[in-house]
Amino acid sequence: MPFNTDDSLVQTVEASIQKDVSLATYNTFGFSYQAEYFAIADSCESLKVLLAWANRSNVNVTMIGGGSNLLISDHIGGLVIINRLQGMQAHEHPNNLICLTVSAGEKWHQVVEHAVEQSWYGIENLALIPGTVGAAPVQNIGAYGVEIKDVLARVQVMDQTSGDVYWINAKDCGFAYRDSHFKGKWKNKLIITSVELMLKKQADLLLSYGGLANRIDGEPTLRKVFDTVCAVRAEKLPNPETLSNAGSFFKNPIVSQEQHNELKKRFSDLVSFAFEDNFKLAAGWLIDQAGWKGKKSKGVGVYDKQALVLVNYTEQSADALLDLETQIKQSILERYGVELEREPVQLPVQSNTAH
Ligand SMILES: Cc1cc2nc3c(=O)[nH]c(=O)nc-3n(C[C@H](O)[C@H](O)[C@H](O)COP(=O)(O)OP(=O)(O)OC[C@H]3O[C@@H](n4cnc5c(N)ncnc54)[C@H](O)[C@@H]3O)c2cc1C
Repeated sequence: MPFNTDDSLVQTVEASIQKDVSLATYNTFGFSYQAEYFAIADSCESLKVLLAWANRSNVNVTMIGGGSNLLISDHIGGLVIINRLQGMQAHEHPNNLICLTVSAGEKWHQVVEHAVEQSWYGIENLALIPGTVGAAPVQNIGAYGVEIKDVLARVQVMDQTSGDVYWINAKDCGFAYRDSHFKGKWKNKLIITSVELMLKKQADLLLSYGGLANRIDGEPTLRKVFDTVCAVRAEKLPNPETLSNAGSFFKNPIVSQEQHNELKKRFSDLVSFAFEDNFKLAAGWLIDQAGWKGKKSKGVGVYDKQALVLVNYTEQSADALLDLETQIKQSILERYGVELEREPVQLPVQSNTAH
């Protein structure tokens, strides 16, 4: 057995593992599928022992943080671990920087709030994004022109098959738009246990995205940017606690200059942004203009204030949502010749782990 873990600890952890637990309150779509085995990890030690148990029992492991970027569409076999690793430490760094180390189970928004209270700059534009710190690098969370990769120094991981813990530099994590190696080659192999953020003590605000500058009265401050981001998001996005959703359901598609020029000829008010050598199209605009905003189908629908968000009004299963997704994708392909890609991660994972 590759795990260097005390046998008696593995036997003890067995008692804390539950069988056939509903995941309805562990995903913000509220879909009611079950985990075959279920446990909560509240420390690196307990996570390691749970992984050793899964390894010994020859079952797959699925990690869930806040469940706010998930599309669970069936029961999940194997062990589902809920990440609740807690802790946060800051220390001064040269060049007026603060190095903030945060455990993966902390809530991302609370870390942003803490940074703003301490007058540390860098993550204020990422306020009010639901979920845990550990999931934030997985899809390289982003909003208002900032992505977590811009402030991330290192990520601490635990190897799922050996329990080894080590740090990976951010530049080696394959970060891209809503993407990283944690969604690709490291999926089901590495669990994020902690992150190290590099924040600035000197003012450095980014106001050029999403009309932030126009919404702020007078001289912009860190607190005003944070409050404005929270206010704008609360106006545009449904709160998952009152209306089940997983935020943006589709990524903004990236198209070539040529395709962009053709689309611009046909749709003069097309909303798009230059992105590297290509163009990013506002998926919300495409869906809205195709007539989907506010549409309901069975117990699910397209949010009436933001067409990029799909919501679940009443469904226990993901069937109606998957059906709506197919219809929207087809309609966007027919109208614009553009293929939409889903943002939330579908579970259960189809491929096998290393067990
Ligand atoms: C209302 C709303 C608004 C949103 N706005 C934004 C936004 O502006 N920008 C944005 O980028 N996202 C946004 N999101 C999506 C979501 O909040 C983020 O992707 C968030 O980082 C997900 O965190 P989570 O803990 O809920 O992850 P989960 O949904 O639990 O997990 C997501 C994926 O990460 C994996 N994972 C979770 N924890 C770990 C870990 N510790 N180690 C390795 N893998 C792990 C899971 O297995 C899964 O594959 C929004 C969601 C909602 C509901």
